[in-house]
Amino acid sequence: MLDVLRKIVQEVSVAPDLESVLNLIVRRIQRSMKTEVCSTYLFDPSDQRYVLMASEGLNQEAIGSVRLSASEGLVGLVVARAEPINLENAADHPAFKYVESTGEERFSSFLGVPIIHHRDVLGVLVVQQKETRRFDESEEAFLVTLSAQLAGAIAHAEATGSLGSVAEQEKKAVDLRFEGVAGSSGVAIGSATVIAPPADLASVPDKVAKDIQKEIASFQEALKLVRRDIKVVGRSLAQRLRSEEQALFDVYLRMLDDNALAGEVVATIEKGNWAQGALREVVAEHVRQFSMMDDPYLRERATDIKDLGRRVLAYLQEAAPASLEFTNETILVADELTPAMLGEVPSEKLVGLVSVHGSSNSHAAILARSMGIPTIMGAVDLPLTRIDGRELILDGYSGRIYVQPGEDLLNAYRDIVKGEQEQAAELEGIKDLPAETSDGYRMPLWVNTGLIADVARSLDRGAEGIGLYRTEVPFMIREFFPSEHEQAQTYRKQLEAFHPRPVTMRTLDIGGDKALPYFPIEEENPFLGWRGIRVTLDHPEIFLVQVRAMLKAGEGFDNLRIMLPMVTSVREVEEANRQIDRAVRELQEEGLDIKRPMVGVMVEVPAAVYQVRRFARRVDFISVGSNDLTQYLLAVDRNNPRVADLYVSYHPAVLKALEYIAREAHKENATVSICGEVASEPGGALLLMAMGYDVLSMNATNLPKVKSAIRSVSKVDADQLLKEVMAMDDADRIQLLINERLEKLGIALPAQPVIPG
Ligand code: PEP
Ligand code: MG
Repeated sequence: MLDVLRKIVQEVSVAPDLESVLNLIVRRIQRSMKTEVCSTYLFDPSDQRYVLMASEGLNQEAIGSVRLSASEGLVGLVVARAEPINLENAADHPAFKYVESTGEERFSSFLGVPIIHHRDVLGVLVVQQKETRRFDESEEAFLVTLSAQLAGAIAHAEATGSLGSVAEQEKKAVDLRFEGVAGSSGVAIGSATVIAPPADLASVPDKVAKDIQKEIASFQEALKLVRRDIKVVGRSLAQRLRSEEQALFDVYLRMLDDNALAGEVVATIEKGNWAQGALREVVAEHVRQFSMMDDPYLRERATDIKDLGRRVLAYLQEAAPASLEFTNETILVADELTPAMLGEVPSEKLVGLVSVHGSSNSHAAILARSMGIPTIMGAVDLPLTRIDGRELILDGYSGRIYVQPGEDLLNAYRDIVKGEQEQAAELEGIKDLPAETSDGYRMPLWVNTGLIADVARSLDRGAEGIGLYRTEVPFMIREFFPSEHEQAQTYRKQLEAFHPRPVTMRTLDIGGDKALPYFPIEEENPFLGWRGIRVTLDHPEIFLVQVRAMLKAGEGFDNLRIMLPMVTSVREVEEANRQIDRAVRELQEEGLDIKRPMVGVMVEVPAAVYQVRRFARRVDFISVGSNDLTQYLLAVDRNNPRVADLYVSYHPAVLKALEYIAREAHKENATVSICGEVASEPGGALLLMAMGYDVLSMNATNLPKVKSAIRSVSKVDADQLLKEVMAMDDADRIQLLINERLEKLGIALPAQPVIPG
């Protein structure tokens, strides 16, 4: 059975559209379960009904016309209960509803299983038989397993299907909604530009061909070059291959013939898609057909076709490297948004970001927040290939994306944008005032930086220091490790711009979700792997060069602080201290006028929480990386949109740990700061202030909001809020209480659109 299951899931995953997905499902299930009927009902939000979408065994005329409400018939019962219903004789059940057009009166036994995706009942899978018998346990288990596995594919196909293909792309409003994870707050209205990594066929978007003949010509040219390459490789291997292996190259060449792949691509271009999109479409169809074959030899040909497709694509991309077009309001959409991609669009044109993968604490989202760009992460159902050029509304508060929105929706969101602008103008007024509570408690507010552009923004917003400079960011947007001299130049810019305010530079924190293209780390479990200080202590040459560059950059300024990421044990701190001492000594011997900077440890893992005092005795300050600490305390991957709901900063365990760290650090008279994103939330900032944190470091975008929150409370109020929160045992209730309190204080909460209709 496992084999059948795997095969069905595999076929469905490559089916081109919703209709094929559903037809395939009913056909395969009917055959493998040997039932007389298999049908799929799907929810249609337009009239809140479950519609018969595909059936093997029921009258075909009924498809599309049988529409049941969630309280109608056995299908409705499966929906209402969200669990399987297995009946020997369906007609005997009180909920049975006879729908004449289906011809189902001939069938007695009924097994209906809900199709559930993200807790929503998308539809129902039904099998029926004439014979009066209960489906046995293994049949029920099979259908339940299949339904659970197919739900994602159905949701995806449904979402993709509601957008017409590029050839029939209309500008008319469709108001289609996709859910993601809020990555950076704010609303953006603009036009989508899909950015795909080079030679990645699967993420090539559809685009309307501007000049069909030109597209065909460039495709033919790319094809010619691939044919030439294959012949060259074939000839150079001729001596080493047997004749039947040699024949494979001929097969390859034949696949590219005009009456095979090439002809189909040309025909698809003629229908209006550009060459790269047409190539993706045709290759995907061939791959689908090959991978469905039973013969293992033929199945393997799917790999060949993919390889050929990639080769042709590479030449097409080489011939048209600057094919990305940016409108004045560009929303950049990517399968996996990387920090490097953020730099692709001229900043004055970039209004929003969308990533199919990742979650709110992925580093791309953190950077987006610091740049103040509304962002949605983990939009897993967004049909990437059909989005390019379409108008989008991006709601960075709720994590929703609307494709081709109607005028009513646009107006509702335009109102929010206006409200945001008014709020920003109001906050501008407190720029030069201190972050001080109404009873005179002063809370230093620092910023987190990474990009050079952050410096100006941070100073403009009244930051009093840099609590975290993510040095890996400049490393990530390069092609090899920067030299000591280059690093020193980059660091000096931050130190100089902020002088005399302190600048906390974190040593290279790679691994986890932060990869350097020129230093790949392949691991099964990267967040529990070679990360942060673990990498740099294993590569003293990288660590020393970086520390030397920092020290050199700081000469004459006296505002450098060095911070160590992902520390789990005292031994690591001692080793890092030794390396820093060595770098200081070397540079002094080289004649530089430098002294040892302040050194700090980040508390990011549970092991560090319980060793804060030991660390504090060995360094000058402690800084909490609550982004990682939350992920490790709650065992929730910060990048995984599936568990994004479980990643909560106000979880009682996280709050307990944060309070404990501040108390423990102070026992050793060490200063304790926090540079995780929780400090960027007005509510979080108030709690942390009450816990006794000496410095809050946050993204520059949110600094004015946090300052405004601090200025609107007394320290006594904040202490009282903390006391109440610490007595609570549920994160959602804590969030509600905080929202309620902020609202009372007149602190603006994330805007909610008044959705029309
Ligand atoms: C953190 O983990 O909280 C932190 C500040 O570091 P990063 O987000 O860069 O991992
Ligand atoms: Mg971290």
